[in-house]
Amino acid sequence: MIPYLPLKEINASYAPQINEAIQRVVQDGWYIMGKECTHFEQEYAAYIGTRHCIGCGNGYDALWLIFNAYRQMGLLHDGDEVMVPANTFIASVLAITRNRLRPIFTDPDANTCLMGDEQILATLGKHTKAVLLVHLYGQNSYTDRLAQVCRDRGIIIIEDNAQAHGAMYGTRRTGSLGDAAAHSFYPGKNLGALGDAGAVTTNNPLLAATIEKLRNYGSSTKYRHDEIGVNSRLDEIQAAALRVKLRHLDSDNEKRRTIAMRYIAEIKNPYVRTQHIKEPSSHVFHIFPLMSDHRDTLQQHLTTNGIHTQIHYPVPPHKQACYKEYNHLSMPIAEALSATELSLPCHPLLKEEEVTHIIATVNSFKP
Ligand SMILES: *Cc1c(COP(=O)(O)O)cnc(C)c1O
Repeated sequence: MIPYLPLKEINASYAPQINEAIQRVVQDGWYIMGKECTHFEQEYAAYIGTRHCIGCGNGYDALWLIFNAYRQMGLLHDGDEVMVPANTFIASVLAITRNRLRPIFTDPDANTCLMGDEQILATLGKHTKAVLLVHLYGQNSYTDRLAQVCRDRGIIIIEDNAQAHGAMYGTRRTGSLGDAAAHSFYPGKNLGALGDAGAVTTNNPLLAATIEKLRNYGSSTKYRHDEIGVNSRLDEIQAAALRVKLRHLDSDNEKRRTIAMRYIAEIKNPYVRTQHIKEPSSHVFHIFPLMSDHRDTLQQHLTTNGIHTQIHYPVPPHKQACYKEYNHLSMPIAEALSATELSLPCHPLLKEEEVTHIIATVNSFKP
């Protein structure tokens, strides 16, 4: 079988460096909020191109911390509207509703699978206070034109960069484009830890200072609590492992890109569509999605031929059981994507002959 994402093998390829890093932490005896976390924050901020990086527990927390910090700063209030793509992972929406803000679901563009400027500008209302851009599948969804409109109207731009570590907009990296960005280092992400981990990047010093407190019980001095905070810290072992993997992120992304470019060039089947790529050199292909009206039989055909695939995501957030109040909404494109999307293996260890086999199998599919 060709696995979807062989995490064990991917991490084994860095084993000597990761083991050395973990040993360093074990022997140092300082396990939370120490040198590794500080170094990772500096290195990741330098990589993304922001003044600040604040490590935290996971990607959801990074999103939650950003919205909560804006509340603490008096810039977001109960019931304020936040625009969010209807075809995202549920964490993006939970971070909004768990801060008592209102998600305004927006149908994406059917070709890029991202909210385009047209969709956003058509949905912006007078109560819209923030836009959450999700760089879904590893492709940037920010534009300077959108930023200009938002700046003129005092709307905050937040990036969900969980799937797009290393992606670019021109010469700038995603995660440095809006007012703040959330990053997940869930093991399966392009920059994956050995457990849960996340970070916020921003150029706003007040936002950074607020989040630094919020993630550690609202405290900057031990046992003094300025904010009603939470416990969402990045532990030393995760930070040490992330520092190792960050050094290989660009070359790993390049390998994903090479595979994706073959898929784009060589997949030719009237029953299968691929995502529209705005700029191949800027996309980091966290996920390589196919769209097919015969998705389930296509998945069966690939499984029969030894290829594991996944679906991102089978049920959009507004149709989830936990969001009964949004179940009545109709988001035709997001719903169609849920019914047609199939993700092919696309990772740094995939071999050329495996890519060839995957392409041939997709091309031989007939419903
Ligand atoms: C993975 C992911 C998250 C959540 O990250 P966790 O670290 O699992 O909490 C948020 N948004 C998107 C788009 C994701 O893919």
